[in-house]
Amino acid sequence: MYPGGEQVFNLTYEFKLKPTQAQVTIFEQWLERCRRVWNYALAERKDWYKSRSCPINACSIMSEYIMPADAPRPTIASQCKSLTKARSEIPALGEVQSQVLQQVLRAVEGAFVSMWERNHGFPRFKKPGRMRSFVFPQLGVNPVQGSRVKLPKIGWVQFRQSRPIPEGCTIKQARVVKRVSGWYVMLTLQWDVSVPQILPHGDMIGVDVGLTNFVATSNGLTVKHPKFFVDAERKLKLLQQRVSRKKLGSNNWRKAQRKVAKLHEYIANRRKDWHWKLAHQLCDGVGAVFVEDLNLIGLARAMLGKHCLDASWGQFFQILEQCCFKRGVFFMKVDSRKTSQICPNCGHETGKKDLSERTHHCSNCGYATDRDVAAAQVVLSRGCAAVGHTVKMLSEGKVVGLPLIKESPSL
Ligand SMILES: [Zn+2]
Repeated sequence: MYPGGEQVFNLTYEFKLKPTQAQVTIFEQWLERCRRVWNYALAERKDWYKSRSCPINACSIMSEYIMPADAPRPTIASQCKSLTKARSEIPALGEVQSQVLQQVLRAVEGAFVSMWERNHGFPRFKKPGRMRSFVFPQLGVNPVQGSRVKLPKIGWVQFRQSRPIPEGCTIKQARVVKRVSGWYVMLTLQWDVSVPQILPHGDMIGVDVGLTNFVATSNGLTVKHPKFFVDAERKLKLLQQRVSRKKLGSNNWRKAQRKVAKLHEYIANRRKDWHWKLAHQLCDGVGAVFVEDLNLIGLARAMLGKHCLDASWGQFFQILEQCCFKRGVFFMKVDSRKTSQICPNCGHETGKKDLSERTHHCSNCGYATDRDVAAAQVVLSRGCAAVGHTVKMLSEGKVVGLPLIKESPSL
């Protein structure tokens, strides 16, 4: 009846690694080799597409791709095959674990798939330093003992155990990430089917996201956008100015660059922390959360680009879903079409609202409320319909049976 009948759920736990100097050297080398594999695999695919898209009547002085007409399209299978061959010929590649490199090829494939299916941009080549992580898709038996993790081919690496790893889960994969503040490992923990499936229960809320309010819920809570970037923008500008005054590639340039990267990391951390706090607040006292299923990339392009990405609803929804799982709250995405054009009280279509129009006022039943709250109530009633519950509404414009969450401090 509900989506995802068998629940296999993943949570990612992140720990700061304490690698030895020798291990850091290995990490750096692997990252660089992964980067080269990425660029090679991308070039192979790009050349193939370019050679197909040549106009027949065009002069070949501008571009000439020496590729037979029947050359097969590079696929993940063919690229894995040539990778195996390359690994036996190039010792530097042979040193890196094969699955780690295959995972890079998979990422190249993924970049193309999201271009075709999700309207993302054409995959790009990576400059030195742009490759920031690599993945072990499989780990050995008992990969974590105490505060150390065993990475294939690299061996035991110490980490700072900032939180215990819960019982009853298996560690599926490990991603080693390079940040300004050091090296981290992201462990993907998986719970088996034995986890009881969460069913919608108790009070339910719908969540709407928008440009004026970061979120609005069906019970009347509105939370403003966190203006992390606006706060940090002045400082960022200053630091970037300093970078531009240094000689490119010099030690001072590197130091200034590092400060910029540190500020970016700080902003990202703060944003993530805020998202978790907000997610917990939304989960308080409810048994089901419904959100819109948004096409975020399209939205970010169509709307105020940077502002949208700063708001980062994608990350928030992921965090909200994880938060719901941890707290036993049902979570579901519902159709997001026309949520702001329908009256939540009577279902009458009120037509498109201008962005400046802040209130919803129904000409059919006279229901009036905040525009975003109305959209959240539409999300709620759609979610309720999808799981076979009815939503109780009062004609005065209040959804009954839902506790009011206190407004969170705007940051
Ligand atoms: Zn109405």
